[in-house]
Amino acid sequence: MSPPVPPVVPTVHLVGAGPGDAGLLTRRGEELLRAAEVVLADALVGPGVLALANPAAEIVTRTHSPADAPGARETNQRALIARMIAEAQAGRRVVRLKGGDPSIFGRGTEEADALLAAGVPVEVVPGVTAAIAASGLSGIPLTHRDRAGAVCFVTGHDAGRRRERIDWRALAAFPGTRVFYMGRRRLGRIAASLTEHGLDPATPAAVVSQAATPRQRTVCGTVGTIAAECDAVALPGPAILLVGAAATAPGARGWWERRPLAGRTVACVGSEGTAAPRDALRSKGADSVEVTLLRIEPEPGRTPAEAQALLSEADWVAFTSKNGVTHFLEDVPDSRGLAGVKLAAVGPSTAEALRDYRVRADLVPEEFHAEALADALAPHVKGRRVLWPTCPEAKPTLADRLTAAGAAVRRVHVYRQEPATALPADAAALLDAGRLDWALIASGNLARTFAELTERSPGRERLQVAAISENVAAACRDAGLPVAAVAAEATWDGLVEAVCEAEATG
Ligand code: SAH
Repeated sequence: MSPPVPPVVPTVHLVGAGPGDAGLLTRRGEELLRAAEVVLADALVGPGVLALANPAAEIVTRTHSPADAPGARETNQRALIARMIAEAQAGRRVVRLKGGDPSIFGRGTEEADALLAAGVPVEVVPGVTAAIAASGLSGIPLTHRDRAGAVCFVTGHDAGRRRERIDWRALAAFPGTRVFYMGRRRLGRIAASLTEHGLDPATPAAVVSQAATPRQRTVCGTVGTIAAECDAVALPGPAILLVGAAATAPGARGWWERRPLAGRTVACVGSEGTAAPRDALRSKGADSVEVTLLRIEPEPGRTPAEAQALLSEADWVAFTSKNGVTHFLEDVPDSRGLAGVKLAAVGPSTAEALRDYRVRADLVPEEFHAEALADALAPHVKGRRVLWPTCPEAKPTLADRLTAAGAAVRRVHVYRQEPATALPADAAALLDAGRLDWALIASGNLARTFAELTERSPGRERLQVAAISENVAAACRDAGLPVAAVAAEATWDGLVEAVCEAEATG
């Protein structure tokens, strides 16, 4: 008999998550995250990165706070290493996510050594470290042909402390850019130590706060002024301090903070199943939250035979929502039943839902609302039968206009909308804290529910509302929500454009 084969312990991956924005995660990092069963993340890892993890994975986030009892960090760190070892030995795929790069002030090496000592194989996946992100996104170079021929990364953590081991003389004389990590609360100490050791207080200095997030801000000054300038605007951490002749104000190179929605937080108010424009908002510089205020429930009542009968009694089927498409076509037993009818869709996402069933819309109006659909259909439906699969909450406009145009309209309710009774907790917290800048509102029903649920929040005053169409704008105003922007094209992307324009014109 051969000896028992020892179980294979899977490799633990120490993955650099980058500085915040998910776009700066490596492809290898993303691949591992998607396959992970357990993700152990540092406090600095961006939410967009965590969102890429396998939905079935267990995600453990760890936060240090200045209020931690002395020694808590060490206890946490030991517990975390023990957990990684135990999970790997149990055969689970573990990704340890570290902010930035694991080996830059990240204790990645200590973790790797502890895992290896326990017989757990380890691989490190590099990440974009905060200094590199801060430089690229602020437009302040780390090296420069004439002004900085070297760069060094320094921990500012111990500046001014008793156990400080920083060679200030060497740093003051350093022929390039000094980059300080962990120094936000010690800017004054760092600047004073540099000048005490001979650095000219007029040397350029810059601080990049919350790099690679929608809240990134850069403050520029000199070694003599930088601490006071950051304090004057209460610049928050985490932040990177750059000191040297190349660390001057970036001017036109500072693109990240000049994106149209930089620093804004936008709520996308929609119904269940709508795909909010997260990526579009992110690329414009905004943070977003999804506020789902209408749950979609199927309306019972049609057998496949009944659905087929409805189709055989129609010349046109008019769809005014994605839900109308899915909840009706689910009941249709055979797609060939659609062969004899023409199909109209109110807009691109409704047409897209039809394409999922491999059928093409015969008609999509130029503007994407019920009135425009009615106008576009009117010339085709005189004396014809139009089937309209919708919900009880939809206004009768489409049916009224088509009837006036000479059609026989049959309205069937294939789903209904259940309004939420509270805002989702994350959105409510942002709103109450006055941190929600915009709400994008996609329908009149959503406007009414949103108005009701936010009525008493102190953050309502400063919140600006963007409506997807003039009709929805009117519904917003009726519900007591002043409208600051209306989409020219009634889509989520149109809403994002409208908000950008409103911000640009102030
Ligand atoms: N391993 C990380 C650094 C961890 S030390 C990396 O490679 O980036 C934590 C320090 O990193 C913070 O105090 C701050 O100085 C810096 N930092 C991390 N994320 C940052 C961000 N998004 N913007 C600015 N500085 C950041």
